Amino acid sequence: MPNAIVTGAARGIGLATTKLFLAEGRRVAMIDSDADELARAAGALENVLPIVCDVSDEAQVAAMAGQVAKDFGSVDALVNNAGVADFRPMDQTDLQVWRRVMATNLDGVFLTSQMVIPHMTAGRGAIVNIASISGLRASTLRVAYGTSKAAVIHLTRQQAAELGERGIRANCVAPGPVDTKLALAVHSPEIRAAYHDAIPLNRYGKEDEIAQVIVFLCSEKAGYVTGQTIAADGGFDATGVGLP
Ligand code: NAD
Repeated sequence: MPNAIVTGAARGIGLATTKLFLAEGRRVAMIDSDADELARAAGALENVLPIVCDVSDEAQVAAMAGQVAKDFGSVDALVNNAGVADFRPMDQTDLQVWRRVMATNLDGVFLTSQMVIPHMTAGRGAIVNIASISGLRASTLRVAYGTSKAAVIHLTRQQAAELGERGIRANCVAPGPVDTKLALAVHSPEIRAAYHDAIPLNRYGKEDEIAQVIVFLCSEKAGYVTGQTIAADGGFDATGVGLP
């Protein structure tokens, strides 16, 4: 049975991706730092291996990768989705906030990839990293979040360059706004209204619409696609309009 690891799998885009993988017949290692939410989400599903792990903690990530490798043998797909948002300008972002955002959004992708890649299936392994339109466009509000996501886009290119000779692909999805707990915490009514007007499709995305792109990039259908970033954003990036 093919398998996948999804980080940040307890809710939101990660949970939608987990469900889609399961529907396609994969086993899924669900990784999340929120033990209660992970237990709730995984308890309702079959063919999952839930593991509590903070992706910014090197020892926890090493233990998680070892546990998955022991259970799965080799890993077919890795989705680095765990993320935190922070919407502040530079003059209100102290070093503690900056490091907290970078620790999960950037260090987490680096560490998880580094520890899982040795266990990945050569010839058809796939990595998908979740960035954001905030990593494609600058704004006045997202110095740490936007910078972390821009770095994830470049880290993906590095991974594609390094892993190609082993037949492992690495791609990135840059979602536009999606109504999840993360977005609800940082999208003010003004931001919501501005997004609605600025997005050609005039709406937020749905978790499943992002998951569909992730699952496609992990599949053999995307066998010749690597190093790319796909914006699943209702056309926002195409317009050239600034981020609200
Ligand atoms: P969410 O808050 O609903 O889910 C994120 C999950 O990640 C949570 O279950 C949380 O517990 C987990 N998590 C956070 N820090 C972690 C850590 N250090 N280790 C392990 N797990 C951790 O958010 P979401 O909207 O589903 O976000 C998923 C990804 O999509 C994130 O990377 C986010 O930046 C990105 N994204 C979201 C939006 C949006 O509008 N929702 C837009 C663009 C990009």
